[in-house]
Amino acid sequence: MTIIKFIWRKILRPFLNIFLKPNCPLCQRSADREFCQYCEKQVWHCQFPNGGEIFSGEVPVFVWGQYKDSLKRAIAAMKYEDHPQIAKPLAYWLADGWLASPMATLDKVVVIPIPMHKRKQRERGFNQAELLANSFCEATGLQIWRNALARKKETRALYSLSFAERLEMVQDAFVVRKDFRNRPPCTSVLLVDDIYTTGATVNSAIEVLGKAGIKVVGVLAIATTKKPTRSKPQLKSQKVVRKSYSQK
Ligand SMILES: [Zn+2]
Repeated sequence: MTIIKFIWRKILRPFLNIFLKPNCPLCQRSADREFCQYCEKQVWHCQFPNGGEIFSGEVPVFVWGQYKDSLKRAIAAMKYEDHPQIAKPLAYWLADGWLASPMATLDKVVVIPIPMHKRKQRERGFNQAELLANSFCEATGLQIWRNALARKKETRALYSLSFAERLEMVQDAFVVRKDFRNRPPCTSVLLVDDIYTTGATVNSAIEVLGKAGIKVVGVLAIATTKKPTRSKPQLKSQKVVRKSYSQK
């Protein structure tokens, strides 16, 4: 080892690493991973019991946690404070929860992220749903169809709108890209988004994919504003969902 290499490896690089080590995006304390240990625990406090919550419906929705406190902060930091690296741990935790859920008995599914409008994505530099879907597929081994959907309509923030306004806003918001139209009908799809609220966005995507012969069998999201339902009817319908999957 030359003297220059030695100085670089043993002195300069470790010294620089002290400064280059990224801080926790939520509290700015130094962190070895994406979050510091304290914030990671706080984010985990927002997880639903049993690894996640399934909201049953025509298409079941699996959500990792409640959109509140540190999870809400983490998603905001990822999207608005330029911390795309946050997508990875969130997606891995989502994958863990999903793999342990009845929805994971699906086989032969591909993953499609909810797209952003081109201009908005250029401004942000990334689409968080795509980053989540990438890491989710890394963790589960599922295939991703990154560009199957495109957003043709630029929508403004949906959180301030009523359900009817949201529906109108997202109607015809998506288009299925040419290469993906009329693929074999056996292909089933899981949609991935960061936040699930009224379902207006994903329903619009489900509709346009359906018209192109692509069946959506589940929706996955990191967080939801919906409260989990623990009533008997939901458990009953979950069993129905499980049964219909195993019949495929
Ligand atoms: Zn922290």
